[in-house]
Formats: sequence, structure tokens, C-alpha cells
Amino acid sequence: MKRVFNFGAGPAMLPLEVMQQAQAEFLNYQNLGASVIEISHRSGEFDDIIKRCDALLTELAGIPDNYKILYVHGGAQMQFSAVPLNLINRKAANKASFVLTGNWAVKASKEAARYGMSINLASSENRNFSYIPDYDLGLLDPDSSYLHITSNNTLFGTRWHSFPETGEVPLVADMTSEFLSRKLDINQFGLIFAGLQKNLGPAGLALVIIREDLLEYALPATPGLLNYQVYAEQHSLANTTNTFAIYLMSLVLQWLKDQGGVALMEKQNEAKAKLIYDAIDDSDFYYGTADAAHRSAMNVTFNLHNEDLLGEFVEQAEAADLYALKGHRAVGGARASIYNAMPRAGCEALVEFMSDFERRMG
Ligand code: PMP
Repeated sequence: MKRVFNFGAGPAMLPLEVMQQAQAEFLNYQNLGASVIEISHRSGEFDDIIKRCDALLTELAGIPDNYKILYVHGGAQMQFSAVPLNLINRKAANKASFVLTGNWAVKASKEAARYGMSINLASSENRNFSYIPDYDLGLLDPDSSYLHITSNNTLFGTRWHSFPETGEVPLVADMTSEFLSRKLDINQFGLIFAGLQKNLGPAGLALVIIREDLLEYALPATPGLLNYQVYAEQHSLANTTNTFAIYLMSLVLQWLKDQGGVALMEKQNEAKAKLIYDAIDDSDFYYGTADAAHRSAMNVTFNLHNEDLLGEFVEQAEAADLYALKGHRAVGGARASIYNAMPRAGCEALVEFMSDFERRMG
């Protein structure tokens, strides 16, 4: 069987053990004589799966009792609409504030402006989003219904190392590309969302963790299937959900628990990222594209000083089973996405390849 080290940003590499388990029980789930994708979302078996997800998420992320866990259709970008539809009406001014740290925050801000007013508190666009900008919390309009940030910027390879204290204004974080990769204090956030397709499972669903008191502000025109209250009241089963994605997530979460949980994963992730950043920093051939102080542990963005060699770099890497290293077109260069499921051996293989490529081509 051929398996590569897959550095793609998402859908991304998942733990092999998880896919093997899914494969082994795919045709006959728990001896039902039917696949998990052939049983009702209202069956006892699926009820066990979704409750297992709730319990594992609560344990792994330390989710307090006053938060709800929702599994929402449509992936992460759908939350750019769902969040303002559900929250922008929290204050009569209908305003939402944003810190623009990349394309995803820009998109979210533009989408919120369809339902109210978007205020951009700070931006790092002047240097192509290569850093997390300073922001003056004194300028955060207290009439903002919430402040939206992207905690890890998948394209640009930056992350918020610590989070703003926003007081009465709920902090909303798009954690699509890092949720469960590092320890968090959930109490700092009013709402966290994450598309599944990086650290959690397959694409198409988003996990939403929302403080209960924020469930009551949906605009009247909010579609039922984007209304968080509907999801909260009906355990995310107002209609037929993506049962397979939730099942697979339950396996990924169990895997993460078996690995030792988020604290241990964070340590491993930091060490994996350091391997690659050190290789970049120790060389005159490669350079990092994100400011060192704001580097992501999930998406390592870099380039070659001689950019003419980039195509060759990506091609030769692929021939060496190091897959999908091409950077996003908004940044150029190369990007190694190293989510929880990327083993240290994958990062070591990349570093070795980089050094070998430099020796041959430098
Ligand atoms: N936010 C972030 C931080 C992302 O990385 C992505 C996808 N890479 C999205 C939003 C959009 O996700 P989706 O394709 O599920 O809408």
C-alpha cells in the first residue's frame, strides 16, 4: 500500500489507525449487517456516536458546562454567514468587529457586512498578512456584538499566540486550522468554530462551540439550518446530518485521547514545527515568510531565495513521497501543513529532503 507524507492544508492527512478502523468496520458496523453510513441518524447506534463526540470534545478541549457543542452543515465558510446571522443582533447597533489577519478574516468581515456593519479594528494586509497586527483594545467599539479573529492563518502561516481580553464583547474565533492542536481556555471565547477537514475529520461540517447565553440573538431571517438555537435544541439533528463525518470525527477524537490528549499533542506539534523552522532559519537557501514571533505550528510557510527553483522543489519532493508542499497562490512559495496526524517522521523526512535539495541545487 502506498502512503505519502501529505503536507496538504486540507482536506488533510488523518491518522492511519483511524482510517484502518473505519475501513475494517465499514461494511458491518457493530455487527448490524449494515454500514455506519446506511443507518438512521436517529438510531441508537448513531446516538451513541454523536454522544461520544460530545463527551470526547468536552474532555479533550475542556469545554465548560455553559457551552453547547453543535455540528453545523456547510464547513467553515458557512460560519462566516451563520455567526453574524446568529450574533450581530446581540447589540442594537448591529456591528461586528474584525482583526484582519488573512483572506479568511477578510471574507468573514465582508460577509458580516451583509447583515450589519463590519468594523475592521486592525489589519496586517500591508505586509501580505505575514504577521498578527497590533491592536488597541481601547478602540474596540463596546457596541460591537462580537470580535471575530482567525486564530491560525492557514494560508499565511501565522497564529495568535495569545488572545485579546475583550471584556463584555464576545470573542469569536475561527480555529479551523488548529482546533485541538494546542491547549485553550474555552472561557476566553464566546464562540469557536472549526471546519472538520484539518484536525477533526472529513470536509463539509463545522464544529461550533458556543456560550449558551449567545443562543438567543438570531436575526428573524436566519435560515433554520443555520440557526444555532435549532442545533442546540435538536442535538444538531434538525435534519439528516453528515453521519459519516461525525462518526469519523469520533474516531479521530478517540485517537487523540489515546495519544495522550491535547497537552501532549501540543508538545509534539511545537517540536515538529521547530524542526522545520530551524532548518529554514539555519539555511541561506530557504527563508520563512511569516514573522518569527507569530509563526504557526500548523502551517509552515517558506520560500526559496531563488524562487525559480520552487517548481523543481515541489516536484522532487513529491517524487520523494512528500506530497502537496506548494504554497497557496496568495503567498507563493511552499507550505508544509503539519496537523496533529502528521507524524514527526514526516517532518524529519521533509527536513532531510530540504537539506539534500539545497546540497544538490544550491
Ligand atoms: N477558515 C480557515 C482558517 C480555513 O483554513 C479554511 C479552509 N482552509 C476556511 C475557513 C474555509 O473552510 P471551508 O472550505 O470548510 O469553508
